[in-house]
Amino acid sequence: MSQVFYRSPKTRYPMVQRADGVYLYDQHNKAYLDGSGGAAVSCLGYNHPQIIRAIKAQLDKVPFAHSAFFTNEPQEELAQRLADRFPQVGARVYFLSGGSEANETALKLVRQYWLAKGCSSKYKIISRQQSYHGNTLGALSVSGNVQRRKTYGPMLQDWPRIMPCYSYRHQREDESDAQFAQRAANALEQAILEAGPETVAAFIAEPIVGATLGVVLPATDYFRRIREICDQYQVLLILDEVMCGAGRSGHYFAFEQENVVPDVVTLAKGLGGGYQPLGACICRQDIHDTIVDACGSFAHGHTYIGHATACAAGVAVMDVLEQQNLLDRVQSSGKLIRNALRTQLAEHPYVGDIRGSGLFIGIELVSDRTSRRAPANSAALASTLKQRAMDTGLIIYPGHGSVDGSNGTHILLAPPFIYQDQHIDELLSKLSSVLDHNELKSMVTHDN
Ligand code: PMP
Repeated sequence: MSQVFYRSPKTRYPMVQRADGVYLYDQHNKAYLDGSGGAAVSCLGYNHPQIIRAIKAQLDKVPFAHSAFFTNEPQEELAQRLADRFPQVGARVYFLSGGSEANETALKLVRQYWLAKGCSSKYKIISRQQSYHGNTLGALSVSGNVQRRKTYGPMLQDWPRIMPCYSYRHQREDESDAQFAQRAANALEQAILEAGPETVAAFIAEPIVGATLGVVLPATDYFRRIREICDQYQVLLILDEVMCGAGRSGHYFAFEQENVVPDVVTLAKGLGGGYQPLGACICRQDIHDTIVDACGSFAHGHTYIGHATACAAGVAVMDVLEQQNLLDRVQSSGKLIRNALRTQLAEHPYVGDIRGSGLFIGIELVSDRTSRRAPANSAALASTLKQRAMDTGLIIYPGHGSVDGSNGTHILLAPPFIYQDQHIDELLSKLSSVLDHNELKSMVTHDN
């Protein structure tokens, strides 16, 4: 009997034994092609020599020294390089161990900012339905993912949540893209007015919705209008790029495509590429300075903030991205995969939508393409998809955004940035066989 507290106790997990590039191998030496970076984490595969060398070198120097006593070189360097990529000069960076911590940090940061400004009534965080910002109670409080919230209901804050910008499901037939974008964004203005602008500290959203909806891109100009509304009512804009950031979308920050600058942005997953647990909360300089001037310091901290070995992995990941021009490759490979999927699955009766940016790709499954009706049991379908893919030696990340069945089940693909042509071919062919599996067909059509 195992003593491990498994994620899903009834699942028999294979034992991962080793890795080679974009493949993982289990105890029977069965190979699994990574088609989703795990959960959009492993952007550079699993045994990149440059990253492993950098981690080993840091371990030889000093693995960790507590931030109450020291700073360290990798933390300083990574902070500088992230600040250089942020569109406004002087951004400040706070390093954490993952995405939930990064978002918790963002929530506390905006609260302390308003306190420092003398606006103590500003504390509410508005978010979106069908969103996910982390599993700790604060981050879950501002998440709209019904599935993940349902067990913890009374412990969670219930602040306002607005509609997501999910055109496949919410855009009306008589509505142009621009009209839909305005309507979806104006829901924020309405929520701020209802809550009272003097009580609202921030709005948090993923620029590209990852795990909850399966890679949903915002309609054009949605975030421009969101930024305008935030400015008008003195509400800070937090963008959660834990999943879509660090190059995944083909741009270092996904918000670069939206022509907006957030006040705070969070990163994790691809930042350390899975080689070390690493997250970051990046804010405008004046947010940092206002807090420090008024309060002395940010009232926050964890044991592992600014962890030297984790930051060394982050620096090495950034080096590889830059030296190999990987953002260009993410854009071109992403286009290639999406086009191939669109051709290959054009007639597939259960594929409702194929979407994405860079190597962040979503496929939404429906029981009927015309009505876009969702499959009856999205949770069971998602887990069967994952299992059948693993049977064929492929890692994909299926999910579903609702418990009421109003959304389709989706498959999230987030291949490592170092994919070669043969990996793309293998991904497409294995995925196709998973989607054609008889068992899946009967699950999707079960409710027809
Ligand atoms: N935000 C987003 C957008 C995420 O996708 C996730 C993880 N899936 C998180 C936050 C939480 O990150 P972590 O699991 O590293 O705590």
